[in-house]
Amino acid sequence: MSNVALVTGAASGIGAAVTRRLAAGGARCVLVDLDADGAQRVAEEVGGVWLAADVSDPETARQAVELARSTYGRLDLVHLNAGISSGVDFAAFDLARYRRAVGVNMDGVVFGVEAAVPLMAESGGGAIVVTSSLAGLVGFGGDPVYTMTKHAVVGLVRALAQPLAAVGVRIGAVCPGFTDTPLVAGTSVRETLVRAGFPLLSAEEVAAAVESAFYAEEPGTLLVVQPGIHPVPYRYAG
Ligand code: NAD
Repeated sequence: MSNVALVTGAASGIGAAVTRRLAAGGARCVLVDLDADGAQRVAEEVGGVWLAADVSDPETARQAVELARSTYGRLDLVHLNAGISSGVDFAAFDLARYRRAVGVNMDGVVFGVEAAVPLMAESGGGAIVVTSSLAGLVGFGGDPVYTMTKHAVVGLVRALAQPLAAVGVRIGAVCPGFTDTPLVAGTSVRETLVRAGFPLLSAEEVAAAVESAFYAEEPGTLLVVQPGIHPVPYRYAG
C-alpha cells in the first residue's frame, strides 16, 4: 500500500518540493500551510488534500492528522517543515515577533509530533523528519532567535529518537544550508552570497535529502545538507 505523507509548510519552497517528490514516488499527501491558495495549488497538482491553518495552534496538527485518517485511513511519513525567520533584534526587542518564531518553529514541531505519533503507530510505524537548519547546529549570528528555535528542534529530535523508535516511529532532522526559496528571496544575506559566488541549495536538493532522512536507519539522524555534497549525518563530538 502506498505511503500517506503529511507535510507542513507545503505551499512553498522546501515543503512544496518534498510534497511533489513524495507524490511522484506514489505517496498520498496531506498538505498544511497558512497560505490557502498555495496549499490548494500544490494539493491539486499532486492530487492530495490540504488544510489552511497555523501550525502554532495545536488544533491544526489534530485536524491535519484527522484529515489523513478520514481521507486515507493511515499516516506513514510526516515532514514538520513550516518555519519562519524571527527578525528579532535584541537592540529593539519585539515580544510579538519572538513569540511568533517560537510558536511556529518550536511549538509547531512539538504539536505535530504529539498529534501524528498515535496514528503512525496504529499504521504500523513510520518516520518523521523535522526541518532544522545548519543554524540548528552552529550559532549563526544573523537571527539569534531563529538559531535558538532550530537548535531546540534538534534537541527534541535527539531526545525523542529512542522513545519513538519503541513505538515504531523514526524521527530525524535535516539541517540545510542556505536554500534558494521565497523565505530568503530579496534578503541581504542572499545577495551577499550570490555576489560572492557562494552556491545556494535548491529546494529540490533539500527535498531529496528529506526523502533519504525518512529512511535513515539510525533514529535521531541529523542530516547535514550542503550544496554539491552528498548529505552527511552530523556527529556530535564525544
Ligand atoms: P518558504 O517561505 O518558501 O516556505 C515556508 C512555508 O511555510 C510557506 O508556505 C509558509 O506559508 C508556511 N508557513 C509559515 N508559517 C506557517 C505557519 N505558522 N503555519 C503553517 N504554515 C506556515 O521557506 P523554506 O525556505 O521552504 O522554509 C522551509 C523550512 O526550511 C523552514 O523551517 C526554514 O526555517 C527551513 N530552512 C530554510 C533554509 C533556507 O535557506 N531557505 C535553510 C535551512 C532551513
